Amino acid sequence: MKIAIDAGACIGAGQCVLSAPAVFDQDERDGTVVLLQPEPSLNLRNAVLEAAEKCPARVIEVDE
Ligand code: SF4
Repeated sequence: MKIAIDAGACIGAGQCVLSAPAVFDQDERDGTVVLLQPEPSLNLRNAVLEAAEKCPARVIEVDE
């Protein structure tokens, strides 16, 4: 599974971090998303899909 994010369009809502803290973090300065794992293992699949679904800016793309 591969993840792509459009950090430029991120509004820093932080939903992704709440859903999948092992995969996403937020920049300390402006709160925008930081991708910790571009290719997370399958056991994180549900958390990643939830993050993508809940992201209000729809900037998380998941390629399964
Ligand atoms: S949930 Fe979306 S908008 Fe919010 S920090 Fe994560 S990527 Fe950015």
